[in-house]
Amino acid sequence: MKKSFDASSRVLPHVRNLHAYVPGEQPQGGDWVKLNTNENPYPPSPRVGPAIAAEVDQLRKYPEPRSHQLRAVIGERFGLSAENVIIGNGSDNILDLITRCFVSSAGAGHTVPSYSLYPVVTGMSDKGLVDVPFTREMKLDAAAIAATDAAVFFLTSPNAPTGVAFSRAEIAAVLDRVNGLLVVDEAYVDFGGETAAPLLQEYQNLIVVRTFSKSYGLAGMRVGFAMADAAIISMLDRVRDAYNLDRIAQAAAQAAFEDVDYFERQRARVIATREATLAELDAFGWFTYPSAANLLFTEPKNASGESGAEVAHALFEYLKTQKVLVRYFPKHPLTCAFIRVSIGTDVEMKAFLTAVESWLNNV
Ligand code: PMP
Repeated sequence: MKKSFDASSRVLPHVRNLHAYVPGEQPQGGDWVKLNTNENPYPPSPRVGPAIAAEVDQLRKYPEPRSHQLRAVIGERFGLSAENVIIGNGSDNILDLITRCFVSSAGAGHTVPSYSLYPVVTGMSDKGLVDVPFTREMKLDAAAIAATDAAVFFLTSPNAPTGVAFSRAEIAAVLDRVNGLLVVDEAYVDFGGETAAPLLQEYQNLIVVRTFSKSYGLAGMRVGFAMADAAIISMLDRVRDAYNLDRIAQAAAQAAFEDVDYFERQRARVIATREATLAELDAFGWFTYPSAANLLFTEPKNASGESGAEVAHALFEYLKTQKVLVRYFPKHPLTCAFIRVSIGTDVEMKAFLTAVESWLNNV
């Protein structure tokens, strides 16, 4: 007979109550127009393939444990030193390191809605996550953020799922007021947001988090980074897995980062497609938030001019029948009447808009 072990009574109490992060659907194969997880529609720089191939012979050896070269090239671009940069296995890894280091009895905070991973990473700490609710205007409330007195406050700019970006001045106003750490998650900033990075020269309580998953087209590679005061980075290094990035990921990220021309061209294409798609949504008479990200958060109206959760849900389901996958967040009053559409190629966006038109003509 198999020896039994009751995992649920033995597991740490926090983990028993934790819910795993639910990512957007990742259908493998099939002919989906996949506009649901904000991936880049274009492949990474053509330099990435050869850079990966060059590492194959070296795979018998461990990688450089600190991803030192990548830290140095990223630091240089931002006028920082390698000591101000840490590389993560995706920026999700960085968010987890920050939580493990700094979310103390003062707990953490975030704006709602924002990135749904924050409740998951902070769920491992004793203290929960304090919500600072947005209103429909999606304006940043620095006083409300300061009032949380959180040890760590997560601010996504441009925000997810709305795409609304906050200016450097608005972020500085938050930094002035908070006593804890402000983590500015800039996963989408390359698509038009104003980076908070220059504020690192003025504020020791700032961590800027970035990813290679969106603007560099490397979501499958899992590379993110953070920039902060050297003392903060050295703390994060204490809780980092010794070899948190493999050789291939380090080489791929560096090749992509150094191919500035390609990067600029692809992000300009995504931005142009976003603006063209926005014009089409405006022509439907739908409200869409101004987006500085590779996504549009739009409030659909049906053929009778009605909007609301039922309408958004119906469109989401209809699009699925047309093999167009977007994201729908039913649980929050500020999100349930909207759909989030990632920016794909012009051809993909045309397929999306054609499917919307056929929905408008059929309901
Ligand atoms: N931050 C935000 C706001 C995101 O939307 C995402 C990805 N969906 C991430 C961080 C994580 O990105 P990754 O782990 O792929 O670097």
